[in-house]
Amino acid sequence: MGGSEHPPFPPMLADRLKTLAPSSTLAVQAKARELRAKGIDVISFGAGEPDFDTPQRIKDAAAEAMRRGQTKYTEVGGIPELRAAVCAKLKRDNGLDYTPAEALVSCGAKHTLYNLVTALLNPGDEMLVPSPFWVSYPEQARLLGAVPVAVDTREATGFDLDPEGLRAAVTPRTKLIVLNSPNNPTGAVFSRRALEAVARLAVERGLWVVADECYESLTFEGRHVSIASLGPDIKARTLVVNTCSKAYAMTGWRIGYAAGPRELIRAMTDIQSQVTSNPSSIAQWAAVEALSGPQDEVAKMAGEFDRRRRLIIGGLNALPGVSCVMPKGAFYAFANVSGLFGRTWVQGDTRATLKGSIDVTGFLLEAARVAVVPGLDFGSDAHVRLSYATSDALISEGLRRMQAAIATLA
Ligand code: PMP
Ligand code: GLU
Repeated sequence: MGGSEHPPFPPMLADRLKTLAPSSTLAVQAKARELRAKGIDVISFGAGEPDFDTPQRIKDAAAEAMRRGQTKYTEVGGIPELRAAVCAKLKRDNGLDYTPAEALVSCGAKHTLYNLVTALLNPGDEMLVPSPFWVSYPEQARLLGAVPVAVDTREATGFDLDPEGLRAAVTPRTKLIVLNSPNNPTGAVFSRRALEAVARLAVERGLWVVADECYESLTFEGRHVSIASLGPDIKARTLVVNTCSKAYAMTGWRIGYAAGPRELIRAMTDIQSQVTSNPSSIAQWAAVEALSGPQDEVAKMAGEFDRRRRLIIGGLNALPGVSCVMPKGAFYAFANVSGLFGRTWVQGDTRATLKGSIDVTGFLLEAARVAVVPGLDFGSDAHVRLSYATSDALISEGLRRMQAAIATLA
């Protein structure tokens, strides 16, 4: 499993930096910003974040918390009101029963996930990651000296989970399976049958499961099933992870949360106590409102994303050399661009042949002024990822630019 960028390794740095690839989703977003600041008109399908503003009721709750003076350290794992709101949400939406002692709030789900791997993985332990995968899972495991093991899913099944593939990849060192549904980058919504099979595998082999459900609210087809809801045995081995980032357009507030067995939550909270302490007190009060207040804007935003999904997938499939399966959830298109490989691109007096997803990404940025993320960083060099959490007008213009650029390829 490898990323596209490995910076040079300065000798004073710890060995764990030797393999660390910086987050390419965030890097693409930074690159697009930098070009725009230079006056270059780039359309970014880079980092996945809703283009909607955070709903007003949530901002009001934050302002009110500041007025009340709730601006101090809080309990490390989150204020009791927020942990209670997390439990109520998991009951309301997922039918899951947890007590506040089984819940933890962190500085975004990315932080939650890092707390988890720090708590669970010893150097050499293996973590199974269905591939394509979100860029941060393998990197976080590697930082701990653990070994991420990619287990392929197939485009022909819409990238559904492959329980048999996972079973075949289990070794005596396997400790954790990472499940992410709806999936970033493929948009797959894992079927109940596949989740039941993985639950049986985890229970039989004594494995831990992390269920990253950050895109739950963006399930357009099929039904979101939380693996923890499939029975007490699997619930006892699962950490359910979610975030306010996507459902409530709160990426900048940095509130992620988790629920799971009390001992695991306690360990993760202890780690957090030595690393970040509590997440922002103000953002926590905003999150109480987000999770507990009226939920209508969640469905409204999801409806918008669903419409854009059809627009972008239709457009991508109309591009010669590009194909894209219809994602069932999240807000990403994972487009197969291998039909462009072997074509040549003339830039000034140099000619370059497109050989992989990094070449295609570079070509689209230079020739179309469109930013996408190379699939290589997600485990597939035949693809590029486009986030369609952007306006119809930008999606249409981006597609038009890509079509014009592809038409110039020899
Ligand atoms: N999991 C997945 C699959 C993601 O795509 C992201 C990025 N939004 C996260 C976790 C982390 O989200 P955040 O840290 O903003 O809560
Ligand atoms: N998760 C989003 C993405 O995949 C935001 C960036 C990140 O945290 O990776 O684009």
